[in-house]
Amino acid sequence: MDIEKIRSDFPILERKVYGRPLIYLDNTATSQTPRRVVDEVVSMYYNAKANVHRGVHTLSQEATEAQEATREMIRAWIGAESVEEVIFTRGTTEAINLAASSYGQLMENGDEIILTVMEHHSNIVPWQLLGMRKRIMLRVVPINKVGELDLEAYRSLFNDRTRLVAVCHVSNVLGTVNPIKEMVAEAHSRGVPVLVDGAQAVPHMRVDMRDLDADFYAFSAHKMYGPTGVGILYGKKHLLKMMPPYQGGGEMIDHVSFEGTTFADLPYKFEAGTPDYVDIAAFRRAIEYIQGVGMDDIAAHEEDLLRYATERMLAEIPGIEIYGMAPYKSAVISFNIPGAHHYDVGMLLDKQGVAVRTGHHCAQPLMHALGIEGCVRASFAVYNTLAEVDAFITALSRAAAMLT
Ligand code: PMP
Repeated sequence: MDIEKIRSDFPILERKVYGRPLIYLDNTATSQTPRRVVDEVVSMYYNAKANVHRGVHTLSQEATEAQEATREMIRAWIGAESVEEVIFTRGTTEAINLAASSYGQLMENGDEIILTVMEHHSNIVPWQLLGMRKRIMLRVVPINKVGELDLEAYRSLFNDRTRLVAVCHVSNVLGTVNPIKEMVAEAHSRGVPVLVDGAQAVPHMRVDMRDLDADFYAFSAHKMYGPTGVGILYGKKHLLKMMPPYQGGGEMIDHVSFEGTTFADLPYKFEAGTPDYVDIAAFRRAIEYIQGVGMDDIAAHEEDLLRYATERMLAEIPGIEIYGMAPYKSAVISFNIPGAHHYDVGMLLDKQGVAVRTGHHCAQPLMHALGIEGCVRASFAVYNTLAEVDAFITALSRAAAMLT
């Protein structure tokens, strides 16, 4: 992997912050965007800005083709059986809200959903909102000391009212890669479908719906070198067919009259209104980019960064506490330095050009389980280097010395 070439694809990495070269370690929140993705956005605006699916004119057809080419590319990339199973949304959050709102209508008072304590708020709150409309009980899988799900507990939470399992593939705080395939097999053996929040998995590892057998899988483009404002809900066709529409409007109908409306076929039934077709078109370039570098190489590089950074942090920052030490873990390091507030650590790192995230990371129940208010999180992507890890450790040591 030619890391210098890769870095040169991301113009933002030339930026300075407080006069220091930017070291961007907030990739879990959003990753940076290579030139070819931005170029596609610009090209769409300059050459093919026309509403999709509605026009016979050339521009509209080109915009439609660009959008549908992305859909087909994603279908192949995640191993979905058909493009009917690939729904465009605004992101992971909207994808899960769609599932909760629509699939949730098929649930009944007294039904139960199994979640885990490491879920992002976007895989908790939509189910709670559903619970405000129907009496739905949420059952929560706990974690062990290293941040892995307690699979014994998981098995014990099923009963004859369990209607769904909703679980993240990779935790955005702990980095833990959950054994989704086994969890899906367990749920399916009891006839229960599984929704997977794949926001933190898809940028870092191969995911294949044929292998995982998940019933729903949600992710966002902006975390995988793509544009903002686009996400995917993959859903198995037989489930999507059963589900009522999510929002009403243009694009999602077959025929409308005041007496009643019939709905469009999949996937359009779930895509009301003008989609973000410009960014959808650019999303394809992000996948091409990942494919060009190679997912296995990206994963191996990030694994090196994770191992190196973890070892150095443990060795050189006295008393540091790292949350999440699962053997199978993605390149995310959440931590606290005793006696230093996470917010102050983040501020002092920023002053040295290092961008990390601080706070609860949209995972307040997990913070509660860990007994903390918040923490600092450094997370890596393909363009980060070992030299950046060195600079990060130097900056962190300085911050620790100032604060403790
Ligand atoms: N789930 C997880 C695990 C995430 O990390 C995030 C983003 N931090 C989301 C869901 C929400 O993604 P988005 O804001 O793109 O909808």
